[in-house]
Order: sequence, then C-alpha cells, then structure tokens
Amino acid sequence: MVVGVLALQGAFVEHEAVLDRLGEEWFEIRSLDDLKRGMDGIILPGGESTVQGKLLRDFGMLDELKAKIGAGLPVLATCAGMILLAEKIEDDETVHLGTMPVTVRRNAFGRQLGSFNARGDFGDLKDVEMEFIRAPIFTDIGGDVEPLSIINQKIVAARYNNQVATAFHPELTDDTRVHQYFLSIFHRFFTERGSKGLFQTISLFSYRKLIKY
Ligand code: GLN
Repeated sequence: MVVGVLALQGAFVEHEAVLDRLGEEWFEIRSLDDLKRGMDGIILPGGESTVQGKLLRDFGMLDELKAKIGAGLPVLATCAGMILLAEKIEDDETVHLGTMPVTVRRNAFGRQLGSFNARGDFGDLKDVEMEFIRAPIFTDIGGDVEPLSIINQKIVAARYNNQVATAFHPELTDDTRVHQYFLSIFHRFFTERGSKGLFQTISLFSYRKLIKY
C-alpha cells in the first residue's frame, strides 16, 4: 500500500508521522508529476484551504486530483482538506475539487472557540479525541453522505463512498484509529480482490460496491 500525502501547505508532516507509526508507505505530492504516480490512497491535510486551492490551481494539479478522486481514489481529508472536497462553501462562490456533495461553513466555531479539544464517536469508533483548529462544519450533506461524528449538534466528520472528511485533526493526537479506518477502505479491497493491477484500473462503480459494507 502506498499513500500519497498532499504536501503543498499545512499539517502534512503530522499525517506522515501517523503513517510511519502504522507502518504504511507514503510519499509527498508537490507537483503534477507526483500526483501522476501510482498510489492507493491520498491524504489532504489541514492548513488554509484558500492557499491550498490556489497552489493546486497554480501548479496545474486541481483537475488531475479531481479526476482521481472522482474515479474512486480513497481520500482522507482533514479540516482545510474537507473544504477542498466540498461541492459548496457557504457564502463563497469558490469550489475547489467539489467531489463531495456537501455544504461546509468555514471557521464555524467562531473566534471564542477557534481551537478546542473534544471527545466523541467516529462511526463505530467510540471516544475518539478530536482536535479542532478554526474548524469547518458540514451544514448540509447529500443523501448518500454518511455522517460519522457529531459534536455540539454539528456534523464534523462524514463519508461519501471513497471520500472521508473530518473537521478535526486526527493526525494531532496519539489515537491512530481514524487513519486505520481510512486505510481499511483500500486494504479491504486488496483482501477481497488481491491484485494491485486490478486496483489501479478500478472503476467508481467497483469502489461503490467495495465500500458499502
Ligand atoms: N480555517 C481553515 C480554512 O478555512 C481550516 C483550518 C484548518 O485546516 N485547521 O481553510
């Protein structure tokens, strides 16, 4: 398994450290050439979504990334990454990747609660530590989108087929379960199909079948 980590801006090193702890192979994506390398999953880190979106455009990477995710490449997007995936950003005409049928609100916890820590469920995982830093929330989700975490009555993590997005930063705590959940999306495929060659030509349809367990 090889995970690509988008490394244009933000907290990518922390994700790499978690992947090291889990014994996963990874490489950094800083260019269109890097993006074209074979990978089994991709992480979009936290940071500043406006900067990341601009760099993706400036480096000519946005369309390729969008196509890969649209074709089913498993993606774990944290915080700013979640904003990049959103089909709609509240009070903003900007759409970056727009691959996830959700509306997000940036900096949704306001100045008072700019940064805070909470504990809550993430899907079936109980008592996950969640680090929020000027975090967004989901204000609307499409019918096929599964909410995974709710904090203060706000949806802060969700999954849409191959796309997992969290408003919090799982890479900033010692708890590796959110990453393991993400890795299980493509590990499961290998277990069931057992062929990397097949994996790389997998269609979105196959992914959909794969991850509806
Ligand atoms: N507030 C940032 C944004 O809008 C996201 C913050 C984060 O990634 N920690 O892009």
